[in-house]
Amino acid sequence: MKAIDVHSHISTEEGSIKYSDEVRAGMEAYYRFKTAYKTEDEMAEDFRKADVKGLIIAWDSGHNMGTEPVTNDYVAKLCDTYPDAFIGGWCCVDPWRGQIAVQEIERSIKELGMMGVKFQGIAQAFFPDDPMMYPIYETIMALDVPVMFHTGTTGLGAGSAGGGGFKLKYTRPIPHFDNIGADFPKMKIIMAHYGWPWQDEQIAVLLHKNNVFCELSGWSPKYFVESYRREIGGRLQDKFMFGTDYPVLSHERLINDYQQLGFKDEVVEKILYKNAIEILNLKV
Ligand SMILES: [Zn+2]
Repeated sequence: MKAIDVHSHISTEEGSIKYSDEVRAGMEAYYRFKTAYKTEDEMAEDFRKADVKGLIIAWDSGHNMGTEPVTNDYVAKLCDTYPDAFIGGWCCVDPWRGQIAVQEIERSIKELGMMGVKFQGIAQAFFPDDPMMYPIYETIMALDVPVMFHTGTTGLGAGSAGGGGFKLKYTRPIPHFDNIGADFPKMKIIMAHYGWPWQDEQIAVLLHKNNVFCELSGWSPKYFVESYRREIGGRLQDKFMFGTDYPVLSHERLINDYQQLGFKDEVVEKILYKNAIEILNLKV
């Protein structure tokens, strides 16, 4: 195994997020990527060919965007069908659904066997430290699973009038992730992505709170500022995990970028898979 991709979306039609045509066109321009649906077999083959194990992601932003979800049942089914390619699923609930969201998290972890919970604050329009979230976090802590949040900017709405109405304020590390890190010291919080334009705030939270971690999907490390790369290779080398945001970025390209950037071999191993096994308690 070359890597564990802790942040993979789904490239089948059923598993793709149901954006409007305008949002999809903006995303494709932002990532310089063209949507091409694959079959489930083809998607699993992408991971086998790259020798990568994926953690795949459900989606529910119905309250803010009016979109149909990528269901937790579908993600769990893919993990059951292709255990050699997908070693776990992040369940997603719309936090605005209150008690229904709490129950769906419990069902997804206990009955569907999913490994964690994922939110996208800009798409779902909520602050992580909104008191509305706290019953959800109590549930996540009781289930003893990690929770991952989108961090930094997004391709969602990029380049369109008013950014499609999406607001970037929801995914800023300080105060939002720092606050929940403090209020839930036993909850493992994963900040997703290089958190530009707030990457220094990510570093501050990572240094300060031992229950907060980071995964690096959606960006090539070539574009990280020098000071951030120094932290990845230095005192924070146990806190970063590899991710791609598949299918928009390829496994081969990103693995190659990490190997070419001058990190020590043991640091590359930690980023590519060892930290994920440790932090997310994965069986591989
Ligand atoms: Zn993503």
